[in-house]
Amino acid sequence: MKLTFLGTAAAEGIPSPFCNCATCRHARETGGRNVRKRQSLLVNDDLLIDIGPDLFASCAQLGISLTEVRHLLVTHSHLDHFNPDNLVLRAKPFRLETELPEMTVVAGPSVWMKWELSGGRDAEAGIVRVPMLPGGERELGPYTVRSIAATHQLRMGDAMNYILHDSHVTVLHASDTGYYEEEVWRQLEGVHLDAIVMESTIGWRASGKEHLNFGDLGRMMERLQSIGAISDRTVKIATHFSHQGVKPYEETKAILEQMGIVCAYDGMISEVVSG
Ligand SMILES: [Zn+2]
Ligand SMILES: [Zn+2]
Ligand SMILES: [Zn+2]
Repeated sequence: MKLTFLGTAAAEGIPSPFCNCATCRHARETGGRNVRKRQSLLVNDDLLIDIGPDLFASCAQLGISLTEVRHLLVTHSHLDHFNPDNLVLRAKPFRLETELPEMTVVAGPSVWMKWELSGGRDAEAGIVRVPMLPGGERELGPYTVRSIAATHQLRMGDAMNYILHDSHVTVLHASDTGYYEEEVWRQLEGVHLDAIVMESTIGWRASGKEHLNFGDLGRMMERLQSIGAISDRTVKIATHFSHQGVKPYEETKAILEQMGIVCAYDGMISEVVSG
């Protein structure tokens, strides 16, 4: 399974145009891996996780086409994860020379409400809805998708992390979330992950309820290890960084490396093989 990180930032991106913190100033001056667009993850070439506001910029910069995408998993309705306009741009008038496959979209009720309020139309966007709640499961082409409750956007109650399985490997996409509730830990028993992509939004900042700092990220990994969900062979990747939580790429990478975790950057590709 091939994972392509189209964006690795939280909602404001790095550098935020409206911020002069040290991380944003450094990113403006140095560019490269210090610049992070809002998060999306492309799996192989046919499944996308989240469809945020930077989709155009990410794909243009990386030379990536999304014309083969047949499945979209949306984690929650926050602006950095679901931008309805990007579904509208799939409509025929915007791609006269191109036929697109129908795209199955898995998402919770608050995402669908946002889509309806935006005036979006399923037929024009070429999408088929799969409404899902935390705890749901669905076959999507070669994939099996299970959702678990994220500790995130708790006022809505439908933010999800996804366990994605094909015939070879199993991957957990855990963004956005805080430390899991006990019910979720029970659901993870018996799961064996070849890779885990987990948020580390608030990095050096104090522990939070709905996002992970480095300490919380470590506690999540330890608990996953203790229930046998991950092993030393599991590929561990951190993503979804806030300018207010992390420092320049090299410093963030160094602290994550000490934890045995890869620091994602925009354009990073990870080939996940069976452990
Ligand atoms: Zn987010
Ligand atoms: Zn900043
Ligand atoms: Zn969020």
